[in-house]
Amino acid sequence: MINANDFKRPPGKRFRLDEIDPGDTGRFKGKSDAAKPTAAKLERLRELHERLYADGSKGLLVILQAMDTAGKDGTITHVLGPLNPQGVTVTPFKVPTELELAHDFLWRVHSAAPARGSIAIFNRSHYEDVLVVRVKRLAPPAVWKGRYDHINSFERLLADSGITIVKLFLHISPEEQAERLRERQQTPEKQWKFVPGDLDDRKLWPNFMQAYEDALTRCNTPWAPWYVVPANRKWYRNLVVSSILVETMERMNFKYPKPIENIADYVIPEV
Ligand code: AMP
Ligand code: MG
Repeated sequence: MINANDFKRPPGKRFRLDEIDPGDTGRFKGKSDAAKPTAAKLERLRELHERLYADGSKGLLVILQAMDTAGKDGTITHVLGPLNPQGVTVTPFKVPTELELAHDFLWRVHSAAPARGSIAIFNRSHYEDVLVVRVKRLAPPAVWKGRYDHINSFERLLADSGITIVKLFLHISPEEQAERLRERQQTPEKQWKFVPGDLDDRKLWPNFMQAYEDALTRCNTPWAPWYVVPANRKWYRNLVVSSILVETMERMNFKYPKPIENIADYVIPEV
């Protein structure tokens, strides 16, 4: 099937995005081929989410990063949407507000971290502070370069507090992005998603890839690994993401809380 390890690198080893094919679909030939295994993973994910909720001592943080149109929203809809909304939070990180900018870069992020017993999804994240901030020169190099260590320490704090962290880079090709941008431009129901600012970011594609390679490599720790998910084909992306999440949660070793003492002695009263 899908092995999560195939999408990871050992800590310290450099990620080379140009060596990872965004169009890869593994041994799957098409959407119909992947339908059943994906449905099975999603079903298992729902069960594991219930166990995480019942256990109550551990949380899961899923960080989604990608270029525009790469499918962060689609992943949330198709992979995380089927989960019980009770016990899931989704936080999108946009251009920081004035108040957010007046604080350290992790201030707005920390409060969105998952409580034990729940799953938090970050649609973009603190990684923007070493990605877009670097590429668009929103802060001097001395500032963003210091952030890799801060990020690793912050994620270590979460991990030490019972939070398992999964970081997913949805990898699309610039050709696929052009296709998706054209579709947004031309399809009336999708035109609301067409943002001219995305075109400016697109022009900086090589700079973004450089920034992503550095961020993925510098922040690929044993307690918070990065995965690169080939995302040109949405159905394969969904299969890979759901497989990685299932594999991660299977390892979390959830336990049901101990039942109250003498549970069998209670008589359910007639009314
Ligand atoms: P989107 O997720 O495409 O709706 O857009 C959110 C925008 O916010 C993206 O263009 C991000 O690059 C931008 N953004 C997110 N975090 C930051 C940040 N820390 N500093 C500057 N821009 C950011
Ligand atoms: Mg955008």
